[in-house]
Amino acid sequence: MVATTQSSTQRHRQVLAVDLGGTNLRVAVVGTDGSLSHRQHAPTAAELGPDSVLERMAKLIQSVAADAGLPPDAPVGIASPGPINPREGVVYFTPNLPGWRNVPLGPRIEQLTGRPTVTANDANCAGLGEVAFGAARGRTDVIYLGIGTGVGGAVISGGHLVDGVRGLGAELGHMCVAMDGPRCTCGGIGCLEAYVAGWAIAREGEMVATTADGEAIRRAAEGGSIHAGTIAVAARAGDEVARTLLARAGRALGVAIGTLTNIFNPELVVIGGGVARVGDHLLQPAREIVSSHCFHAMREDLRIVDATLGDDGGLFGAAALALETGPRRTGQA
Ligand SMILES: [Zn+2]
Repeated sequence: MVATTQSSTQRHRQVLAVDLGGTNLRVAVVGTDGSLSHRQHAPTAAELGPDSVLERMAKLIQSVAADAGLPPDAPVGIASPGPINPREGVVYFTPNLPGWRNVPLGPRIEQLTGRPTVTANDANCAGLGEVAFGAARGRTDVIYLGIGTGVGGAVISGGHLVDGVRGLGAELGHMCVAMDGPRCTCGGIGCLEAYVAGWAIAREGEMVATTADGEAIRRAAEGGSIHAGTIAVAARAGDEVARTLLARAGRALGVAIGTLTNIFNPELVVIGGGVARVGDHLLQPAREIVSSHCFHAMREDLRIVDATLGDDGGLFGAAALALETGPRRTGQA
């Protein structure tokens, strides 16, 4: 599969990028120049089962390819929720896609479209995308952290994507930042995700909102549900309780960045995902505490920046995989 892709890449300067989400299936054409065109999307409709999703994905890919006039062997890159084995293109399971167990995503799309197909998990793709086309363009030593409903990550070290023996690695959201911390959705204790993910911040906000201290948060929620954005609104309005809550999440993020810095000595940490849009009330406490958790010389090398590709990070990363414009995977021939 890899060899076919490499020879195709030499001929084609445009590839088909697919972002498989729990809600939407998105396909576009991406060029080596970073152009993104011929977008099409459809509901994932995961409840119809894997076969239905794969068949509709293949049709969408072929429709976009025909629209763009791409040749029959133009390659496909797919960003998928994980855990996924990118060597074999197999999705082990994923909470966002009910019924998906050991689904041969890559091989089936290759079979249905006749196109060489590569896959990776969406967080690794988002990191690859930022290196190939976004905030970390041209950099070789980069950590990507995507903070949204959950927390995903990617490690690019020495120009290589570091993802372990089966490609399952770099689950940075599940690194422990506190041995006696809160329980995480993965079953672990004190994971970064249990502090900074959308669900974790919302959980803290809901608890505070039941107390006398939670008046500003209750007001920001306007009778609706409490989420990270609600707490950010209260923080911006000057509420100290909301600011303290976000600062606690931010400090957990800073501990994680410091630890990752000690291990990988990156030049950039790129922060993306919806919760990161909370901004400085989350990120400033993170920046302030990083130095306490890594060597001084490595902190000097480090810049912490916002991701620039936004919701298209997965598409650009999927394209980077297929174009091989980004870093190479460890273990790749
Ligand atoms: Zn966890």
